Amino acid sequence: MGKADYAALWQDALRAMTEAVPAQEFDMWFSGVQYEGSEGSELLLSVPDSLRRDKLAQRYSYKLESMLSEMSGGKVTVAFSIRKKSQTSKSPTPEIQRKQLPKKKVQAPPSLSPDYTFDRFVIGENNTFAANAARAIARNPGRAYNPCLVYGGVGLGKTHLLQAIGNDVYREFPELKIAYITAESFTNEFILSIGQQKSHQFKNKYRSVDVLLIDDIHFLPGKKQTQEELFHTFNALHDSSKQMVFTCDRPVSELRELTDRLKSRFSMGLNVDLQPPEYETRVAILRKKIEEKGVEVPDDVIELICRNIRTNVRDLERALTNLLAYADLVSADINLEVAQRRLQDHFASPEQKNIPIELIQRVVAEYFSLSHADLKGNRRTKAIAFPRQLAMHITREITEFSTTEIGNSFGGRDHTTVMHACQKVQDKIRTDDTLESTIQFLIRSIKGQGT
Ligand code: ADP
Ligand code: MG
Repeated sequence: MGKADYAALWQDALRAMTEAVPAQEFDMWFSGVQYEGSEGSELLLSVPDSLRRDKLAQRYSYKLESMLSEMSGGKVTVAFSIRKKSQTSKSPTPEIQRKQLPKKKVQAPPSLSPDYTFDRFVIGENNTFAANAARAIARNPGRAYNPCLVYGGVGLGKTHLLQAIGNDVYREFPELKIAYITAESFTNEFILSIGQQKSHQFKNKYRSVDVLLIDDIHFLPGKKQTQEELFHTFNALHDSSKQMVFTCDRPVSELRELTDRLKSRFSMGLNVDLQPPEYETRVAILRKKIEEKGVEVPDDVIELICRNIRTNVRDLERALTNLLAYADLVSADINLEVAQRRLQDHFASPEQKNIPIELIQRVVAEYFSLSHADLKGNRRTKAIAFPRQLAMHITREITEFSTTEIGNSFGGRDHTTVMHACQKVQDKIRTDDTLESTIQFLIRSIKGQGT
């Protein structure tokens, strides 16, 4: 076997190890292992410290060697050594580079929008945790929280934060290779590369970056081959302690048709959520947007907008843009009266008493990849029963229908069944800290479709 073959063999063995040992264990012992080369049929592997060297030699070398031997069809052994600091000099630690290297680049890399920076991201109670994690990652890529997953509903700042990490790293660590891509583009690019027989190039491209930012991974369910590719990309990057950050519109545990092993990778590191902003934060964000645009908007108009638009930041921005465009067109000053008239359509009516139950059922069914008939029907399998209970709970929360009416709409069930369902969901909210944000997400989707 040639040198290059041994390198590839090592990658294969590592991948096999991810299947063979629990993720946490793998992470603990294998994350710092680097392939240094081969001597005869011995693979030379370096590790950061003696603890890891001893552990790996004692606990894993037998398994590794038998795996390697089997894969290559000949006897292969491994030797672990402790890596000297200088050995990692291929990419010296970011902290050192920060001081030494001139900060040349001022523009954002082509795939990033220069507007999405930390300066422009307003921090409130709803997003402090996520924003702080993102900043820590940008200061110390590959070291702080790796991997990291940011999840939350539409328009809450996921893309903004993800790109802010990219922009910041680009400025502070000009030598690091950054890739920002949506899961959708990743999928398309991958498919294209197969068609053009360039999947090797594709693999190399994403396995050789220092910071990989993938937006909207909720696009991946059902895309089997892409998931497989991403899984290997993840492992390769994780092995060499490269930073990865993902965003998703819901907790990963709720993604269906995503392989378990990929799920476990995504949820392995830090998972943080973004909630809709509170009134005070909405005001602060809107003021910031107004300032950035260099326009003047009276305080009472800002209050009007923020009191009425609670869904997300994108809707806030839309209302502002609409208002500014109008004022510009008719050369009018913006005042409370103009705003009230102009923005009526943007303000969802506060009493949405009768959102149709059918709409709620459809949104919830779709979220759980069930059919509308399933949700209304009689089957009691767990996969259906819980979504059904959730839909009942949401119906109670956001409509004025009585439990009898709700029961009727869910396949003629008794009102006590509805009460029992709501109780179940409330109990579950107490023990499952992602459930509340799932419910909020569903409610936003329902209201979004109802208007
Ligand atoms: P998502 O990716 O979660 O759908 P985006 O990141 O695209 O949301 O955000 C939607 C819009 O709202 C963007 O223009 C973004 O700049 C803005 N935005 C979101 N959160 C904030 C915030 N905390 N401060 C300032 N702007 C924000
Ligand atoms: Mg986005």
